[in-house]
Amino acid sequence: MPAKLLEGKSVALKIKENIKLEIEALKNKYGVCPKLVSVQAGENSASEIYIKSQEKIAKDLGINYELKKLDAGIKQDEFIKAIDALNRDKSVNGIIIQMPLPQHIDAKIISRYVSPLKDIEAVHPQNMGELVFGKAKILPCTAAACMELLNSIESLELYGKEAVVVGHSEIVGKPLALLLLNKFVTTTVCHIATGQRGTLPDFIKKAEIVIVAVGKAGLVKGDWIKEGAIVIDVGINRVEGKIAGDVEFDKAAEKASYITPVPGGIGPLTVAILMRNVVEAFKQQQAK
Ligand code: NAP
Repeated sequence: MPAKLLEGKSVALKIKENIKLEIEALKNKYGVCPKLVSVQAGENSASEIYIKSQEKIAKDLGINYELKKLDAGIKQDEFIKAIDALNRDKSVNGIIIQMPLPQHIDAKIISRYVSPLKDIEAVHPQNMGELVFGKAKILPCTAAACMELLNSIESLELYGKEAVVVGHSEIVGKPLALLLLNKFVTTTVCHIATGQRGTLPDFIKKAEIVIVAVGKAGLVKGDWIKEGAIVIDVGINRVEGKIAGDVEFDKAAEKASYITPVPGGIGPLTVAILMRNVVEAFKQQQAK
């Protein structure tokens, strides 16, 4: 396998060390630590694991963590009231809404009710807008994780590079395309219609950087990868009891210069960036 592995763990470790130092300094200056509140409606086994890991990482870093459990049958307007109470609570610096929400609650609408100052997932339209202008300080976690992995490649000069992002979701593909554009990367975004038209291989074959965030195992074939390309696979799929990405790893690794393993690539970084956003939100709120 000629490709070097782009593992998120070591980059995440550096981010977490910086967060710890920053929290120490903030605690000395303001006498309090940042606080993150996680809102969950109903029970869900997948999000339980995620919540436990978030809580552990937050506490290790010195961030106060509270889980606010709401009833699965809560009405949407009651849910919004609960968020509004957290928005007004000065001791709360960051709010995260755990997905999936019960079916009768519209997740996209709910996200708009989190104060942009406490929106540590950066899904509020105001924070998305800041991204368009290249001014965002709180960045969408997974998209920012991809940028951190690219920045960890010392020899890489992003300016003028050609990238293909596969997937155009609001939380990964679209914000990632903006982050790449802000670094003067010539960026093409492929989506379902590219797949349907059958031109996905044509775009990928030319790309120096390929980032795939779709959620379809083996969607990107290894022999589509350009010699020496950098491949970041965001996808998480369960295949025969194992976790796999969206890219045919073994074959892609024969051609790429760098490639993320799945699991172990983007995953460990996403939560570190979430915590960095809590600290950033805390700082912005103190400056108000
Ligand atoms: P999503 O909202 O379902 O978006 C998937 C995107 O892929 C959509 O834009 C969709 O287009 C596009 N798509 C579907 N089929 C395609 C095809 N054949 N060719 C090209 N594009 C296609 O998913 P997401 O939230 O962005 O997440 C994507 C993947 O990343 C998932 O596997 C998720 O589990 C993983 N993920 C991992 C992390 C992590 O921390 N490691 C974090 C977030 C997400 P249309 O909408 O037009 O159909």
